[in-house]
Amino acid sequence: MDKIATSQGTIAVLNKYDFIFRKKFGQNFLIDPHVLNKIIDSAAITKDDCVLEIGPGIGSVTEALIEHAGKVISVEIDNQLIPILEEQFGQAQNFKLIHNDILKVDLKELVNQESPGRKIKVVANLPYYITTPIIMALLEHELPIESITVMVQKEVADRLAAKPGNKQYGAITVSVNYYAKPYLVANVPRNCFMPRPNVDSAVLKLSLYDEPVVKVKNKEQFFRIIRAAFSQRRKTLLNTLAANGELHLSKEALKQVLDESGIGSVTRGETLSVEEFAKLSDCIDNF
Ligand code: SAM
Repeated sequence: MDKIATSQGTIAVLNKYDFIFRKKFGQNFLIDPHVLNKIIDSAAITKDDCVLEIGPGIGSVTEALIEHAGKVISVEIDNQLIPILEEQFGQAQNFKLIHNDILKVDLKELVNQESPGRKIKVVANLPYYITTPIIMALLEHELPIESITVMVQKEVADRLAAKPGNKQYGAITVSVNYYAKPYLVANVPRNCFMPRPNVDSAVLKLSLYDEPVVKVKNKEQFFRIIRAAFSQRRKTLLNTLAANGELHLSKEALKQVLDESGIGSVTRGETLSVEEFAKLSDCIDNF
């Protein structure tokens, strides 16, 4: 039998179950075993690991996870796929399938139940229409997660792994960098999927920090400043922040804070690192 993550293996499963792709669920199944190996290797999956998989599809990645991990929990939204996955992997002792929308699952409870006292790893070929909400939900809930290894649109991977000053660097980059260290594992061309998407992809690994990389006194304000700083690109940070009503500080006061923090008022927001945003947030807090 061919592995599922090959074109022959995928076609065999699709034909066997008369599967009809649902575009609205972002279904592009992985058909390249080399890419699959890269995902498993970069996630460093071992029998000690409990893995949460988001969107197993017909099981292209699931098959390898079941083989390598101690435990695999896969969450799939499409009811068509549930009997397919159950028939293929129902016998595996280390596999649990949950039929739900990942954004509706109580992840804290799930992780506590399935992996008490031990961090999990997340592995997924993510549905592209909700990539960012899924990644942010995993990070913001501060769950016991060691790493998140995901296939995403290349554009998203580049954005999340961008460095300050880079065109791709944005509010989402800073937010992700607060929780995790991003690493671009590999670029993946569109012909590695069935059906072939209109965009290229990339495997991105986020290694989560035990504690956020910087300490901030007021987390809400820190994220508010980040959003404000990127709301008008190419303007100075002073002008952008002053134009944003949410910070409730006069332009003069902001200028003083920016100068005192050492960031300076002619700097542009898109050049600031996560550490500098933290410093700015604390200086505004102390003002
Ligand atoms: N893992 C499979 C692979 O690599 O071939 C499928 C990946 S496909 C890009 C995305 C999968 O996520 C599909 O199976 C889709 O039905 C599922 N999905 C879409 N939205 C979801 C959601 N909100 N919650 C859980 N699964 C979802």
